[in-house]
Amino acid sequence: MFREIRDIIGNGERFLITAHIDPDGDALGSVFSLYWVLDSLRKQPCIYLRDRVPYMYEFLPKPPQVFHGEIPEDQYDAVFALDCGNLFRVGDGYEKLKEMGPVINIDHHTTNETFGIVNIIDAGASSVAEILYRLYKTMKATMSFNVAINLYTAIFTDTGSFRYSNTNSQAFLICEEMTKSGVSPSYVAQMVHENHPKERFLLLGLVLATLETHKSDTIAMAMVTQDMFRRTNTSKEHTEGFVESVKEIRGVDVAVLLREITGSQYKISMRSKGNTDVASICNLFGGGGHRNAAGCTINGTIREVKDRLKEAFKIE
Ligand code: AMP
Ligand code: MN
Ligand code: MN
Repeated sequence: MFREIRDIIGNGERFLITAHIDPDGDALGSVFSLYWVLDSLRKQPCIYLRDRVPYMYEFLPKPPQVFHGEIPEDQYDAVFALDCGNLFRVGDGYEKLKEMGPVINIDHHTTNETFGIVNIIDAGASSVAEILYRLYKTMKATMSFNVAINLYTAIFTDTGSFRYSNTNSQAFLICEEMTKSGVSPSYVAQMVHENHPKERFLLLGLVLATLETHKSDTIAMAMVTQDMFRRTNTSKEHTEGFVESVKEIRGVDVAVLLREITGSQYKISMRSKGNTDVASICNLFGGGGHRNAAGCTINGTIREVKDRLKEAFKIE
C-alpha cells in the first residue's frame, strides 16, 4: 500500500493535505512533514486545517500559506486525511473532500472507519508520523530538518513524551534518527512543555477547583467553561495538557475533561491509565479515539452531560 501511495504521488501534481479539528502535535507534525516531502519532490501540496495552529506548535516549520476555516475547493490528484478516525473529524464541509480527489486515509485510531480509497490504518503505531516515516522510506525521501522536527514532535507529543502505552521501539528508533537530522530533543521539549503563557496557569487554577472524583477516587472529572476563558483571557488552545494533569493523580484510572463549547454542547476528553477502554466509552456518544485517549462531543446542559457521563461510567 505504501507503494500504491508512492505511485499516486509520483504520477500526480496537486495534493491536498488535511487533519482533524483542534489539531494536536501528531496532526500538525504529520501534515507539515508531508508538505515538506512533497515540496522537495517539486509537487504542489496545499494544507487545510479548520483551526489555526495552537501557540505551542508555532515553532514547527510550516509552509507560508495554510488554509483555515474553509476548505480550498479544487481538483487534486489525492486528498490526504491524516490522524482522522472518521472524515467528519476534518470539520464542516468534509463531505466535499471525496469529490475533490481520491481520499488517502492514514491513521492509527482503533475506531477508524476506512473512509478512503486507500486506507493505511495501523492501530499499533504510536502516531501517524510513525506510519508516514515508513512511507517516506518507501519513497526514498530525504529526511530534511523540516521533515525531521515535524516527525519528532508528532511522535513526542502523541506518546505523551514517551510515557504512554503507545510508546514503542519504533518511536525511539525514528526519533533517534531525527536527532541525527538536527532535531534537539531539549528544544522540542521546551517548546512543548515550558513555553506556556501565564494566563494558561490562571485558567488551570480555575479548572482544578472544579475537580471531582468518583468510584473511590478512580475517576476524576474537571470542567472548563466559556466564563473561565473570558476571566483569564484564554481559549481552548490553553487547555492542552489539562486532562493529562488530572490523570497524574495517584489511583485515578480515568480522567475526564468537559469543555463548554456552548451552554448546550460540551467537548469531552478522556484519558485512561490502565485497562479502561475510553475509546469505546466515547464511541457511545459518537466519538472515538484510542484505548487510553479518546474524545467526543455531547449535547445538553452541563447537568445533562454530567448525568450521561455518570451513567456511562456507572457512577451512582
Ligand atoms: P482529545 O481529547 O481531543 O485530545 O482527543 C483524544 C483522542 O481521541 C485523539 O486521538 C483524537 O483524535 C480522538 N478524538 C477526539 N475527539 C474525537 C471525536 N469526536 N471522534 C473521534 N475521535 C476523537
Ligand atoms: Mn490527533
Ligand atoms: Mn495521532
